[in-house]
Amino acid sequence: MTSSKTQQNSLKAIFLDRDGVLNRKLPENNYVRCPSEFDLLPEVLPALRIFRQLGFALVVITNQRGIARGLMSDNDLHKVHDFMNSLLRDAGLSLEGIYYCPHDKADYCDCRKPAPGMILAATEDLNIDLSSSFMVGDSASDIKAAQNAGVRSVLISQTAEETDADLVFRSLLGFAEFLLDRNCS
Ligand SMILES: [Mg+2]
Ligand SMILES: [Zn+2]
Repeated sequence: MTSSKTQQNSLKAIFLDRDGVLNRKLPENNYVRCPSEFDLLPEVLPALRIFRQLGFALVVITNQRGIARGLMSDNDLHKVHDFMNSLLRDAGLSLEGIYYCPHDKADYCDCRKPAPGMILAATEDLNIDLSSSFMVGDSASDIKAAQNAGVRSVLISQTAEETDADLVFRSLLGFAEFLLDRNCS
């Protein structure tokens, strides 16, 4: 009885890297500092809708070292995330959480990906079942963070790059459709 209750309460989640997965990534060392620089990628909304339909919680896991480098403030980031949330809300969607690391590499924090800190914090905060969840990203550090957290990894990539991700798709929608197909079979 007790164990089945725990089971019912635990959520399955899609952990989502932000830049390059949800929104257009700016050139290296450039940061999305204001809402006008935040461009949702095509087909992201239908992909998120499918994840929702399949019962996944949506949690953003993002490195934002532009803050540590003094190029933007926490408040700038919150404005960007308010804007992102409003775009999702307009589409009838919402996120369970947004976790960001404001540190730089030299801070040796436990949250900056490839460290698993943000994924593990979200897992604890939201009572997520990692074994039925996925971490989706567009870089090697996302895949490494997933492995460090013990959750399945999904790489979004347009090139046939070398990777040890569990799954690789050309777009977030490609992954969503894969899950949808698997759910129906
Ligand atoms: Mg990225
Ligand atoms: Zn950090």
